[in-house]
Amino acid sequence: MAEKRDYYEVLGVSRSANETEIKKAYRTLAKKYHPDVNKEPGSDVKFKEIQEAYEVLSDPSKKASYDQFGHAGMEGAGGFGGFGGSGGFGGFEDLNDIFGSFFGGGQSRSRQSGPRKGQDRFMQMKINFMDAVFGKEESISLDVEEQCDVCFGSGAHSKDDVKTCTTCKGSGQTVTQQRTPFGVFQSASVCPDCGGSGKKIVNKCSKCNGKGYNRKRVTVDVKIPAGIQSGQQLRVSGKGERGASGGPNGDLFIEILVLKHKFFERDGRHIHITIPISAIDATLGTTVDVPTVYGDVELTIPAGTQHGTQFRLKGKGVKDLRTQEPGDQYVEVKIEVDTKLSREQKDLYEKLRKAGSKDSVFEKFKKSFK
Ligand SMILES: [Zn+2]
Ligand SMILES: [Zn+2]
Repeated sequence: MAEKRDYYEVLGVSRSANETEIKKAYRTLAKKYHPDVNKEPGSDVKFKEIQEAYEVLSDPSKKASYDQFGHAGMEGAGGFGGFGGSGGFGGFEDLNDIFGSFFGGGQSRSRQSGPRKGQDRFMQMKINFMDAVFGKEESISLDVEEQCDVCFGSGAHSKDDVKTCTTCKGSGQTVTQQRTPFGVFQSASVCPDCGGSGKKIVNKCSKCNGKGYNRKRVTVDVKIPAGIQSGQQLRVSGKGERGASGGPNGDLFIEILVLKHKFFERDGRHIHITIPISAIDATLGTTVDVPTVYGDVELTIPAGTQHGTQFRLKGKGVKDLRTQEPGDQYVEVKIEVDTKLSREQKDLYEKLRKAGSKDSVFEKFKKSFK
């Protein structure tokens, strides 16, 4: 095994560095080399080295021993037994501090302390087509666990009722040592008496019965903005899962599902509609009152309009969520042929056929094959 580097050198501090300077150097380096962040080869080894150095230099008795005897003073001194200096479990508390603010919390590590934001919650809300176009306010009721406002999350009747757990002496962990032919192994587990909080409550808060939070039904007013589309999410801050150790609640995300309309179809900020037109109206031309989300709009169908022709009604679409710029409505014409004719109509159609040009459209089509 390679010669161990000097712990002060590892953290890049002088031998006279004080506790604050050591902690600061460790935090900076741990952030830089943490395997979750740094994917460069060798960063994990470097990270372990940093952890080990900090574990010793942050502990006054270990530091004194190291200052006097160097690495020799550390062998078998507990903590690094058979792990070849992989650095024990110490320093986790600090890491949680670092990553709590770094990743916005919610990480589950072996030891959790300090305020952490709760997990986000997700739900879906169905709204009808018109509400998506024009926006709407919707009230929803939901159960939220919020920090107790009497004990501020401590779960204790008063400040003096919070005592340090005697089993783990406030560390939140219990340590077991195991001797093996390879050395002494240490393993840490969550303290069974305090559940990892490191604290014991003498007299519980009467409002939350010691839980530190209360569950209550709240009504949340959700403002659905005009122009929202299916799949977009609204965020309601602070209505997610409760935080830990006095941390704030997570957020609530509401995914909007827009229900289909019988006739209108959304395509972003544009709207599509298909309207039926008789063969005669398409041939001779006409005007129709086309429905839009803003009411009927007159549209001129020119003579000789073909099946499938699209017309655009400018500005009759949906307002863009951000720019407020309205989209358009596209009107597609579907030509419907009468299937039931009166005797009079039939006679007129027959006359029409005779009066038509010599070749029908089909005859022209056939001739193009010759
Ligand atoms: Zn309480
Ligand atoms: Zn404990």
